[in-house]
Formats: sequence, C-alpha cells, structure tokens
Amino acid sequence: METELKVSVVRMTRDGEELSGALDDSIYDLHDEFLKPFGGLRYELGVQLFGSELLVRGKLEQDFEAACSRCGQDFDFTVKVPDFATSYAVDEKTEFVELTAELRESILLTLPTYPVCREDCPGIEKTETEAPDSRWDALDNLKKG
Ligand SMILES: [Zn+2]
Repeated sequence: METELKVSVVRMTRDGEELSGALDDSIYDLHDEFLKPFGGLRYELGVQLFGSELLVRGKLEQDFEAACSRCGQDFDFTVKVPDFATSYAVDEKTEFVELTAELRESILLTLPTYPVCREDCPGIEKTETEAPDSRWDALDNLKKG
C-alpha cells in the first residue's frame, strides 16, 4: 500500500482530478497497544485548482482495533470523515502537494478519546439483567389489538 499521497499540480487539468485509494497504516506511526489501525486509510477525494489555491475535498475512512475503555474487550470500529476539506496555496513553482499528513491528522482528530465497544457498554462490572416488566405486556397487546 502507498505511504504517501501526492497530487501533481503541474499536470492538473481545469476539471481537476478524482483520487481514490488507500494509504498504508504505517503513516500513523502509533505505538499504542490498545489502538491499532488496520486495512489502510481509504480516501475518495476531488481535487481542483482555483487560481493559486488547490482545493481538496472528499471522504476518509479508517478501521481501528481498540480495547474498549469501559470493559477492556477488543473491538473494531471505523472512523469516518465524511466532509474532509482543505486547501493549499500553490504557485507556478509548485509541482506537488503532499496530502498524507493532513489526511492522517483528520482521522486522528475524529478518533474518540475513549472508544467504547458499544454505546451502552456496561463496563467490567457484571450488571444484573432485569426481568422484563410484564405489566407492559398487557399494554402492548392492547396496542396490537
Ligand atoms: Zn465495552
């Protein structure tokens, strides 16, 4: 997998360019045993040159394996950036614009500080499972009637 995403400015046409692909997980350089990216940073971007500005927008996705901050179980989740947008100042001397760092930062900023395996994860303590309150059944049956 690629480890960098460079946009060639010199060869950019008026219509711009569509870029899609994936960047290798090594771009994160994370050494966290409780948080591991996998499968690559997927990107779908539209790139366009407007005068002296290169506009980049699109969406990003990255899968992570993490330990739940409540129960400690490993689980997978996907960080999505649906509205990634950035711009770079360019001039006639600019040959390439390097997007890798910006994509990586965007994913990292979107990462939850305390990832949980599910919204209602009860944590390590075993919670008593309550028997469903049967009084409501009568009501439900009424409604269905
Ligand atoms: Zn959990």
